[in-house]
Amino acid sequence: MKRIRTLLMAVALAPLSALAADYPNKDKPVTIVVPFAAGGPTDRVARDLAEAMRKPLGALSVVIDNVGGAGGTLGAAKAARSAPDGHTVFLHHIGMATSPALYRKLPYDTMGDFEYLGMVNDVPMTLIGRNTLPANNFKELQTWINANKGKINLGNAGLGAASHLCGLLFQSALKTDMTTVPYKGTAPAMNDLMGGQIDLMCDQTTNTTSQIEAKTIKAFAVTTQKRLTTPSLKDLPTLDESGLKGFEVTIWHGLYAPKGTPPDVLAKISNALKVALKDPEFIKKQQALGAVVVTDKRIEPAEHRKFVQAEIDKWGPIIKAAGVYAD
Ligand code: ASP
Repeated sequence: MKRIRTLLMAVALAPLSALAADYPNKDKPVTIVVPFAAGGPTDRVARDLAEAMRKPLGALSVVIDNVGGAGGTLGAAKAARSAPDGHTVFLHHIGMATSPALYRKLPYDTMGDFEYLGMVNDVPMTLIGRNTLPANNFKELQTWINANKGKINLGNAGLGAASHLCGLLFQSALKTDMTTVPYKGTAPAMNDLMGGQIDLMCDQTTNTTSQIEAKTIKAFAVTTQKRLTTPSLKDLPTLDESGLKGFEVTIWHGLYAPKGTPPDVLAKISNALKVALKDPEFIKKQQALGAVVVTDKRIEPAEHRKFVQAEIDKWGPIIKAAGVYAD
């Protein structure tokens, strides 16, 4: 009886093992879905990660599919509906945990539609403005904001984006309302900020550091609890020390696969991710952009899942208290 059951199990599991043994398919690229526009901060992390993961994964190539729009939720929905064969993975940030509170209805189930593969990094945000703003530090910016109530444009990557969350908390801390201008990602928003079409934005250092260094935009503060150590950012004050007590937003990225991806395939991807996170070249590139590569237990899929649940529990009440929803 036991032998029959073992045989039956072996037959049932055969397609899975065969899939894992053949994974990755030597003729097919592995695609990382990025839920924002090309050239932006999430895209930047994804492209560096793609390069670092290709070899340990043994993939033909690792390519990026930018699916921007609706604060990252369109990309998440596309990733959730992709074939669960390991050839599509999904990189997302804190929006994975904030969108469930920001949207009355999501086109996917955050905890139910994905396999959790491990976290990638933590990234601070910066409060930045167009170069022509008549303010050179946070205090002067506050004076300008107070003098221009109702006239200020704040760019973001749509409802559910990190820039949206940060901008929301910023407006609420200052008790002011700005006109938000949504883009498919902060790459196009950055173009408009540099061109002076919008006034302000919150964005990850992975997108802002090079512009701050090139002085094409102004930087006023960082959103982390402590000041940063990146040479070009270390003189920026925190928003907390600038008077917005308790202000703290750190963006994290994690890697996911569609629900139903076979366990052996998931293990292969997760192991390749771990190798990538120890790649000195990847670490160096991320550090130069102010990002900190994950080394703690969140590198493990189960801890990644727990962390996202904890973030959902943390941000839900904050967002509800702010009273903002998308439909
Ligand atoms: N920084 C963007 C955000 O606000 C996303 C992006 O374009 O990568 O979520």
